[in-house]
Amino acid sequence: MLLVILECADGEIGDTDKGILSAANRISSTLEVPWGAAVIPGTTPADPAPFAPYGVPEVIVTGEVAGAADSPDLQGQLLARLAREKNASLILLPHTDAGATLAPLLAAELDAALVTEGIAIRQAEGGLEIQHQALGCHVARLRSWDGKRPLVLTLPVKSLSQVVLPSMKPSQPILTSWQPDGSGLSPRTTILQRIPPDPQTVDVSEAEVIVSVGKGCDPHTFDQVKELARLLNISLGVTRPVYDLGWTGFERMIGQTGRAVAPRLYLALGISGSMHHLGGIKESRRIVAVNSDTKAPIFANADEGFVADLKELLPRLLERVRNATEGAA
Ligand SMILES: Cc1cc2nc3c(=O)[nH]c(=O)nc-3n(C[C@H](O)[C@H](O)[C@H](O)COP(=O)(O)OP(=O)(O)OC[C@H]3O[C@@H](n4cnc5c(N)ncnc54)[C@H](O)[C@@H]3O)c2cc1C
Repeated sequence: MLLVILECADGEIGDTDKGILSAANRISSTLEVPWGAAVIPGTTPADPAPFAPYGVPEVIVTGEVAGAADSPDLQGQLLARLAREKNASLILLPHTDAGATLAPLLAAELDAALVTEGIAIRQAEGGLEIQHQALGCHVARLRSWDGKRPLVLTLPVKSLSQVVLPSMKPSQPILTSWQPDGSGLSPRTTILQRIPPDPQTVDVSEAEVIVSVGKGCDPHTFDQVKELARLLNISLGVTRPVYDLGWTGFERMIGQTGRAVAPRLYLALGISGSMHHLGGIKESRRIVAVNSDTKAPIFANADEGFVADLKELLPRLLERVRNATEGAA
């Protein structure tokens, strides 16, 4: 059996859950094995309906276990028990923070093989041939799994498509509750506190919202963009010419040589849109560009474009943001 592990943060099926369900459905039909999904202990999805398009027959929710929500260690022990009960030979997780933490715990509990960040998966004799990212994503390595012992496999979030193949049959999934025998379970580690990342210091490749500035700024407008980032509590990025001026460290430079980013919103100010820069921002969910040149190539690559001079726009934008943030404070 293939068992896929879902996060269902706040009890909702999220984009990553949909992506991993879609991948699990494909792999289970490649291997011709039955499959089901289990939610990380500590979360209970409210409604089974959103699971239906993904063809999952059963979604298993763990009954109340004291301390499970704050202990990945305990979650790993519980999921390993479930995997054993279900006789799962393949356990699939998204390579999120939670998934990447649970995968080795599960593999150790089950004495299973572990392959992380699989990017291409093919059927091979008795099992699978998996190409996976290694050495900080610098190389792709080929591993084979012969199916003789269980395998714990994680898939990178960026590779998870939510697209459901037309051949997939929607299911009427059932939510079942699984009450484990709690004996012998003890959390060896517990989460004491969750500290949200500070957008001002977080790695830009992990940032949710980025305001990025190019050579269309001068020292004064650059300071204004920094102020905007501070007031909105979002991350700052720059193009190569701005980095070359020494105005930021290399870690803020975005593009082919710099960091590749994938924020929800990328605000490009005074950036022409060279292919070297675009290569690093193409995974952004929404790009909004401001440039004084109507013909700037960034506009053809943006979801929304505004023709404006940063010298005029920024003081007005800052004033509105200050009013709004002061009003909210
Ligand atoms: C091998 C190689 C690797 C590279 N890697 C990277 C990389 O990783 N990241 C990267 O960014 N670049 C990289 N580059 C450089 C890249 O080719 C471009 O030169 C660079 O991206 C251009 O940056 P820019 O858009 O800030 O500047 P420009 O191309 O000079 O554009 C400035 C823009 O600002 C606009 N503007 C000017 N004044 C105003 C104003 N007052 N208000 C509004 N808009 C205004 C202009 O109309 C213009 O479109 C690389 C180059 C090479 C050869």
